[in-house]
Amino acid sequence: MPEKIIPIECSHCHEPFLGSVAKAYKVKIGKLRFCSKECRIASKYRKVPVLERLLGRLNKNGPIPEHRPELGPCWVWIGPLNENGYANLRDDDWRTVKAHRISFREHKGEIPEGYEIDHLCRNRACSNPDHLEAVTHMENVQRSTIRQYHASITHCPRGHEYTKENTKLDKRGPYLLRGCLACKRQRYHDKKKQQICVVDSGSVQ
Ligand SMILES: [Zn+2]
Ligand SMILES: [Zn+2]
Ligand SMILES: [Zn+2]
Repeated sequence: MPEKIIPIECSHCHEPFLGSVAKAYKVKIGKLRFCSKECRIASKYRKVPVLERLLGRLNKNGPIPEHRPELGPCWVWIGPLNENGYANLRDDDWRTVKAHRISFREHKGEIPEGYEIDHLCRNRACSNPDHLEAVTHMENVQRSTIRQYHASITHCPRGHEYTKENTKLDKRGPYLLRGCLACKRQRYHDKKKQQICVVDSGSVQ
């Protein structure tokens, strides 16, 4: 005798699917039954709060940003990134959100309406809240333009190359500001010479 097939409500998506009377009975007595494998996994995954799921997929010993070492290591997403280099995650309402936005929200509070999150470390896969700052779209565009502009300059105004050895980074702002050490040395020598001249002229009189 063939088993009777009836519509059952999926415990996750609440869509009806066809199943045996025995299965329907299990749902009736409070057991979870799902229309698909996806729903079964999603239902399990959903019970874990988003922050816990996020932290479980971050490597907190990521690279230290070269231009801002005082920020400390990046918290790098372990797993696939989207085509723009960002990590995606489902939030507690089961919407797909960028991982760094979740990190900002969970550690620093809601992102104000119309604000974007800027990575101070410039590592899009990073979710370290200390590396994230909420800025307006205007500010974000401005910052990236300035960064691109600075990156395009390879030599100081006097023609010394900005090599790693010859460059002093200014860590105060969100931009990459570079000082030329060759010029600094030159300034120091010029000043010394000037002082000697002053002393010389002083001794003459
Ligand atoms: Zn379902
Ligand atoms: Zn970072
Ligand atoms: Zn120079």
